[in-house]
Amino acid sequence: MMSRGTAQPVVLITGDRRVPGEVRVERWDKPARLLRAAKRLAVLWGLAVVSVLIPIAHFVLVPGLLIAGPIAAYLRFRQESGVLGGEGSCPFCGKTMTIDDHPDEWPFFETCEACHDPARIEKPEVAAPAAYDNEPTGQT
Ligand SMILES: [Zn+2]
Repeated sequence: MMSRGTAQPVVLITGDRRVPGEVRVERWDKPARLLRAAKRLAVLWGLAVVSVLIPIAHFVLVPGLLIAGPIAAYLRFRQESGVLGGEGSCPFCGKTMTIDDHPDEWPFFETCEACHDPARIEKPEVAAPAAYDNEPTGQT
């Protein structure tokens, strides 16, 4: 279904269970980021125009969307890469798990639709950074 981006192997972790999975990560160059930002702005300002027609709610929606437009567009422009989504097996119940799109920030969490258990999703090659207090497993 999705062929954009580059494949990124991941590990889905619940407790001490680790299951491999895969997501697709896309990087956007400046013109692509501008385009994405412009689309976001167009959608929100388009909604602002449409919500003029909604009685009472338009007092909040129209100014709200007009302000939110440039902010959302700016945030979108700053985003240089993103996880488009992917698939893996739930480490808890073993069912196929769809990974939604996320910002390119690791690790992130995804909730299994079948058992509603959150799985932590990490890049497999990541050496545990000092900031993370992982339980010591290695004996030297
Ligand atoms: Zn599950």
